[in-house]
Amino acid sequence: MTELLFRDDAYATEFEAVVLAVEPGKVVLDRTLFYPEGGGQPGDTGVLTLPDGRELRVSDTRKGAATDEVVHMLADAALVLTPGMRLSGRLDWERRHRLMRMHTCLHLLSAVIIAPVTGGAVGDGYGRLDFDLPESPEREEVQEKLAALIAKDAAVAFRWITESELDARPELVKTMSVQPPRDRGQVRLVEVEGIDLQPCGGTHVRRIGEIGEVFISKVEKKGKQNRRVRLEFPQAAATIT
Ligand SMILES: [Zn+2]
Repeated sequence: MTELLFRDDAYATEFEAVVLAVEPGKVVLDRTLFYPEGGGQPGDTGVLTLPDGRELRVSDTRKGAATDEVVHMLADAALVLTPGMRLSGRLDWERRHRLMRMHTCLHLLSAVIIAPVTGGAVGDGYGRLDFDLPESPEREEVQEKLAALIAKDAAVAFRWITESELDARPELVKTMSVQPPRDRGQVRLVEVEGIDLQPCGGTHVRRIGEIGEVFISKVEKKGKQNRRVRLEFPQAAATIT
């Protein structure tokens, strides 16, 4: 099991850890700040530094087979690693911060468009949510409402509730396609003060003013009851897929 340090502090960028298990191209640590791909948010990238100063590039991070097991995908073979070895890790912070900004922005989008969310994804500089909606929302109106929310610079906080408390309040679960993360009978609720409250295991900015400028690049019809809303940061216009 890996201690998930990013859950307690999404702003920490460096950590010390011990190697638990190694396979070619993969390493599991006893603790990590690297967020594993999940809930529509991509896995973190960064660097692991060995005691002798050698650096290993982490090209992606995934969930392992066991609960809370995080697998760091290494760009080079990990043959130099052995269980018990101490090392330090460092995130590609600028990328992670962009992912946190976009991920948090999708919480706001789900508060602007009042409809069940059927899917979503975050990329570096862009993101999208799918809504169970028969009519397309008006692009400029959504963009204006989103900008007005961001300007409020509300705080983002989280707290844990029990699974039975969540089950008693099913309206909190907005995303029908993603089950909320559960951890030993507890579920993490993320609250954008006065704007949004839902279970989420991702990483978020502390205040929504950090999201900055964002625009709706497209509203697409994806089936009779499905509307896909795409968001981008201005500087990332070339990266959308
Ligand atoms: Zn979230």
